[in-house]
This record gives sequence, C-alpha cells and structure tokens, in this order.
Amino acid sequence: MRWIVRLLLVEDNDRLALLTKLELERMGFAVDRAASVAEAEAAIRASRFDLMILDLGLPDGDGTSIIREIRMRRLPTPVLILTAREGLDDRVAGLDAGADDYLVKPFEVRELAARCRALLRRPAAPLSSCLTIDGLELDTSQRTVRAGEEVLPLGRREIALLESLLRRPGQVVPREVLEQAVYAGEEEVTPNALDALVSRLRRRLSQAGVDAVLRTVHGVGYMLSAARTG
Ligand code: CA
Repeated sequence: MRWIVRLLLVEDNDRLALLTKLELERMGFAVDRAASVAEAEAAIRASRFDLMILDLGLPDGDGTSIIREIRMRRLPTPVLILTAREGLDDRVAGLDAGADDYLVKPFEVRELAARCRALLRRPAAPLSSCLTIDGLELDTSQRTVRAGEEVLPLGRREIALLESLLRRPGQVVPREVLEQAVYAGEEEVTPNALDALVSRLRRRLSQAGVDAVLRTVHGVGYMLSAARTG
C-alpha cells in the first residue's frame, strides 16, 4: 500500500492555491487548503498533517503565529514557508519561529514538490533538550519557556539570559559570560543593559508564579537557584 502524504496548504490567493493544489495532487499528495490563520488553526486541531506549506501574509494575521502554535503544541509537522522575493524579514521571522524551509514566490510547483519530499525524508528532530528548575522549563531547540502549562512570552534576549543561568543552576554566572551570551556580536551595549534585562526577566518569572530565585551577586554576576531544596 502506498503511503499518502497529507499536506496542508495555507494560502489566501485563490488562484495560486487552486493551481498549486491541483499540481501537487497530480504528483500524488493529498492536499487540504486553508485560506486564513483561523482556518489553518482549525485544520491543525482537527487532523494530523505530514507537512504544511504556509504563506505568511494572510488576511487575518501573520502566518508565523501558526508556526508558533505548531511548535508550542510540539507537533512534528515540518513547515515550508512561502514568501515574496523582497520579504527577507518575513523569511527570517518565519525561520526563527520554527519553519523548516522556505520558497520565494513565484515558484515552480515541481520545486515546491521536491522541497516537500526533502523535508519528509528528514529524520524526525531529535528530542529537544529541556533545562528545568522549579517547574520552569526551557526548551533549547524550540526556544520556548514554560511555567507549568503556561508558555511565557519572553523575548530572544530574555531566553538567552535564562538559558545561561539555567545551565549553571545555583552558581554565580559572571556578568561577562551573560553579556557574551545575550549580546554577542552587538556593537553598542550600554553598561546597564544587562541589569535592565535581568530585572525584566525577574518580573516575568514572578508574574508567572515561578518559585526559582534570580539573585544579584554584586560586583560578580547573577545566580538562579531553586526555592525548594532537596
Ligand atoms: Ca498572501
């Protein structure tokens, strides 16, 4: 028996969606189409797809939110994003959000199909490694942070800072090490940028009810330790 690949094509342009769907079906894929963020979210809640092809510019929002939802729900579905030629920022945002590949419009459906097959051949992503303390959990591959069931809305720098601290729980991490981890490659970093970032992270953690304590060790650096011992 042949294994049928189920694709979800998320594209709001009717003509492009119809042509792409027909051609992909001719190549043997089973294709469902969604025309908006809402439709795509409903589709991924209702069924499992082997792969998703996602246009980022959708009438009711930005397609990257769908990638985040997929990654947050830890679905293994690979995502290929479609972007405009000038859409470098979109592309970067899409890949940062967890897309696996991209194709620039206009594209040949044959190339799209080849990319899909390549993604489907990839081995499943290795189990992501999680750093945890007191119910706080950082997934280092997805770059997401949870406190229990709740996903914390942390920025890239807050996550980088938290990761450095979580890698040395209960130890003082020197400022220079943290600055390197958070601001590597950036030219202008003000002397108290790190302190402001730490304050923000501390506030986010306490708002989320995290018990772990982020301490300032004056003149040295910062330390994250478990509130509970033993
Ligand atoms: Ca569009």
